[in-house]
Amino acid sequence: MTLADVVADLEWVMAYWPDLIEARLPLATARRWRQPELTADARAERDAQARAERFERNALGADSPAPVDITVLQTALDVLVDADDLAAAVAEHAGLPVLPPPQYADLDAWPYLAYAAAHMTEDLADHAAPITARMVDRVARAVCMVYDGQVLDVTCPWCQGRTPETPAGGAYTWRVMSLPGDQTAIVCTGQCEPPDSDVGVWWYGQPCWPIARWTWLAKRVHQADQTGKIAS
Ligand SMILES: [Zn+2]
Repeated sequence: MTLADVVADLEWVMAYWPDLIEARLPLATARRWRQPELTADARAERDAQARAERFERNALGADSPAPVDITVLQTALDVLVDADDLAAAVAEHAGLPVLPPPQYADLDAWPYLAYAAAHMTEDLADHAAPITARMVDRVARAVCMVYDGQVLDVTCPWCQGRTPETPAGGAYTWRVMSLPGDQTAIVCTGQCEPPDSDVGVWWYGQPCWPIARWTWLAKRVHQADQTGKIAS
């Protein structure tokens, strides 16, 4: 693991954190898969949105207690504890002020993840790598419980949604599926043969992309939306 891998892990957890927090309310409908964006604007916007939602929840108060999925809540707490510890280790190492401890009622790991990502150093990366890998794994599992089986509102840029029923294309062919070995992947169910460089894993002849590649996949979809074609 390198410094870049550790920072990428932290950014990944930040991108999916809001989904995790939303997922802990089992009665909330699963939100549509969206392309993770990590621009400063997107973060600020999502942060503001999360705060607004939190305010709404607090304002609703005890009159409408939301049922909480304990597994997902525990995952969020575990990641928050790890993020707080990691941010503190990074601060100590760099001689920077330590962030105030998290308010557990807020369940907001972002400040700690962002702090750790911003000040991570090469010589701390080895210490951090197993921690950030564990965070990614936990968040992925919890978020995927929500996404499993979902058909994504995305046209596959490789097959354009061509299936035997829709030879001209246009079908939504991507599904989130749990595969053996606790892998979660997006599987294209169309007549789809991306070049080997774009797909490393096949599932009964269908291309699939494990969750670790979703950020990359989102970029390819975005690129295809912009240009109308897949760049090689
Ligand atoms: Zn396809």
